[in-house]
Amino acid sequence: MSPAEAEALVPLAAELVGTVRDFGPDAVADVLARVPANRHDALAVVLAAMVDPDQSPSNLLAWTTAGPVQSREGFDPTRPMGLCGDCGRLMAASSLGRHQQRWHAEAVAS
Ligand SMILES: [Zn+2]
Repeated sequence: MSPAEAEALVPLAAELVGTVRDFGPDAVADVLARVPANRHDALAVVLAAMVDPDQSPSNLLAWTTAGPVQSREGFDPTRPMGLCGDCGRLMAASSLGRHQQRWHAEAVAS
């Protein structure tokens, strides 16, 4: 897996994280069906890279023991995600323009 392939999977990985927490098995299956070229192995590596290795598994999974998780306000697993080309932050694609104007306006102007 090249770095570009890994980077391309980050939005889908982030979507899967939110979908696992906030939605059911059908929504999870919908996300997994969109993994390009059946590269579920590559998705697993990207997801592993997104986990804080200093946290214990019981800490990382603590949210699962509290029972059903309330969906976060405004979270929509189908919304398109995008990566900021300047700082690498992942966000809703609809926020990218506003983010870049606010945080990278000087880079654009110079
Ligand atoms: Zn940025």
